[in-house]
Amino acid sequence: MNAPENIAKIPSTAHAASPLAKQAAATFDQLGLSLTDRLGADLPVFSPIDGSELATLGMDTPGDIDAVVANARTAFAAWKLVPAPHRGELVRRYGALVREHKEALSLLLSIENGKILTEARGEVQEVIDICEYAVGLSRQLFGLTIASERPEHRLTEYWHPMGVLGLISAFNFPAAVWAWGTTVALVCGDSAIWKPSEKTPLTALAFAGLLEKAAADYDLAPANLIQVVVGDARCGTAIADHPDVAIVSATGSVRMGQDVAVRLARRFARPVLELGGNNAAIIAPSADLDLALRGAVFAATGTCGQRCTTLRRLIVHNSIRDAFVQRLIATFATLRIGTPLDDATHVGPLIDRMAFDGMQRALEQARAEGGIVHGGERLDIEGGADGYYVRPAIAEMPGQTAIVREETFAPILYVMGYDTLDEAIALQNGVSQGLSSSIFTSDVREAERFQSAEGSDCGIVNVNIGTSGAEIGGAFGGEKVTGGGRVSGSDSWKNYMRRATATVNYSASLPLAQGVKFDLDIDP
Ligand code: NAD
Repeated sequence: MNAPENIAKIPSTAHAASPLAKQAAATFDQLGLSLTDRLGADLPVFSPIDGSELATLGMDTPGDIDAVVANARTAFAAWKLVPAPHRGELVRRYGALVREHKEALSLLLSIENGKILTEARGEVQEVIDICEYAVGLSRQLFGLTIASERPEHRLTEYWHPMGVLGLISAFNFPAAVWAWGTTVALVCGDSAIWKPSEKTPLTALAFAGLLEKAAADYDLAPANLIQVVVGDARCGTAIADHPDVAIVSATGSVRMGQDVAVRLARRFARPVLELGGNNAAIIAPSADLDLALRGAVFAATGTCGQRCTTLRRLIVHNSIRDAFVQRLIATFATLRIGTPLDDATHVGPLIDRMAFDGMQRALEQARAEGGIVHGGERLDIEGGADGYYVRPAIAEMPGQTAIVREETFAPILYVMGYDTLDEAIALQNGVSQGLSSSIFTSDVREAERFQSAEGSDCGIVNVNIGTSGAEIGGAFGGEKVTGGGRVSGSDSWKNYMRRATATVNYSASLPLAQGVKFDLDIDP
């Protein structure tokens, strides 16, 4: 079925399909995917670019989760027996499909999420990169051989597939976070269920649709290896509560994570929690200030301030603070704000009105707490109709007040001063979140202290780069209320497998560990 017909069949769309809706539908056509089975009347999906409706989908309900999990269990029983390098072959094929359709997927992602095209392309590239990473990993899922204290004994550690992965994701990285977890879980031998954000289900259906296609063409892949649940938080809850979902990877707000974590703890399921951040950069007097400025502006305004790693707090040495803030204000004024589909744009729209209202409330509170705010107002953008475009804000604060300690998911950069590095590190660590941090300095002592045990308490610690834009090779995640999870990178694959410790005795006697004696008189 061709895509414009899909849109015409959407029951609740009274008006003609918008140009963006047609573009989104055409993308599905280009990918060889059909939305027909997913159309319905429950969930209107809007583009943040102009607020127009892209499609209306039917929604799964919590009552559907039992059947989805049962399918995933059946798929797991077959998939766990496929040798890991052959599981990698599925991911290799999927990566090739994503690479082939990179441009179409980037366009869809940009239309539905609102991030500028270059960042959308970056996110799709991240999916391709993680596929390659996971393929390599499929031949390196190794355990240890450990020295046994007993003679003629071998002590080893094995890693086995864990079970069904339930992955709940946020709107701001609608594809990459899913791919980080799912491709690695697939090579580890798990089956996967994805509940994407209800704000970005089309991107999810496109990325998962290509994976389903790759699986359908691969005779070793069982049916229902990957399933998508289009639903709201209630479906997320049903996944978190389901006794047959072994691992739940949940990315989103701290509030969501606090609810999910308790549910998982109650049934001892494995959590991988990737929650909110409140990331800071310290600008030391010895910093290369041009570099610091570029790094700070990209980290603060990229994805319109809607990255979990967005720079939200700038801690500037008092000797350079006023001059640096003036340069920041001047640079913010040069940012091109507009449609994300124009390659010249730096900053696209916020996801929706709720995000805009949250930003305005935060700015009001910042003023009430003694802050001086520059920017932050809504902008009228040609072709932007009902989109929420804002000028990124800088708020000069008298200290780390209550609003500064909160994560507001919008482009607001709070600036504070410091005199000593101890003071700067105390400010950096003085919030409940612990995701990403950075220091701009040319002083090696400062750089090393910041990374040491007495430095930043975050999961990501950078020197002379901003807080955002992590590479897939390193473990990604943060501490404190950020949840402690590491969804991908480094040895995070262990989150998707279970460990077995095996001892083999190849002697003719039975020595006990720790020298325990238990002599028996046994008739030969
Ligand atoms: P959100 O918490 O509103 O929603 C995230 C997902 O959780 C959605 O799929 C939603 O339906 C689901 N959900 C919400 N409440 C739930 C519940 N009680 N039980 C189960 N599922 C539930 O977050 P959002 O607005 O989509 O995303 C922004 C947030 O995500 C920010 O706080 C950001 O920092 C965070 N985030 C963190 C990372 C990271 O790696 N640490 C990455 C991306 C986004």
